[in-house]
Amino acid sequence: MSGIKVTPADKYFGDCIKERSDWTCEFPGCNRRYPPPSSLQCCHYFSRGDWSTRFNKENCISMCFAHHSWMDGHHHQFREFMEKRLGPDGYAALVARNADSVLGKKFKQTKGIGEIAKFFKGQYQQMVQFRLFSSEKIIDFEEYVP
Ligand SMILES: [Zn+2]
Repeated sequence: MSGIKVTPADKYFGDCIKERSDWTCEFPGCNRRYPPPSSLQCCHYFSRGDWSTRFNKENCISMCFAHHSWMDGHHHQFREFMEKRLGPDGYAALVARNADSVLGKKFKQTKGIGEIAKFFKGQYQQMVQFRLFSSEKIIDFEEYVP
């Protein structure tokens, strides 16, 4: 993992990403479930150092430790995986968002604390409640608008 400090918003956003997949590794063919508290990880395509996509749900995937490590060492395959997952337009939108320095600045100003952390904590709690009454494997959540 990178040496970037994990903020409260990172923690709750990561919980949302993992809850979204029902705590299941999304690496093709893995599909192993790592219920909380667990070693499942929130894997960023564009690194957590890029604030524009740090809390972006399209940029993040649930992965077990082994597959997260593998993806980080195989950028070409990671890119192919993301293009397939998001589709050409979705992938282009993610690249554009990552390059949006104005947006990046707005997210950086949150410092990952306060309102943004509360927002993702709330989203996570809603997802957990929703899961109790849903048979859907994948549960979505809202984006934070800084
Ligand atoms: Zn895995």
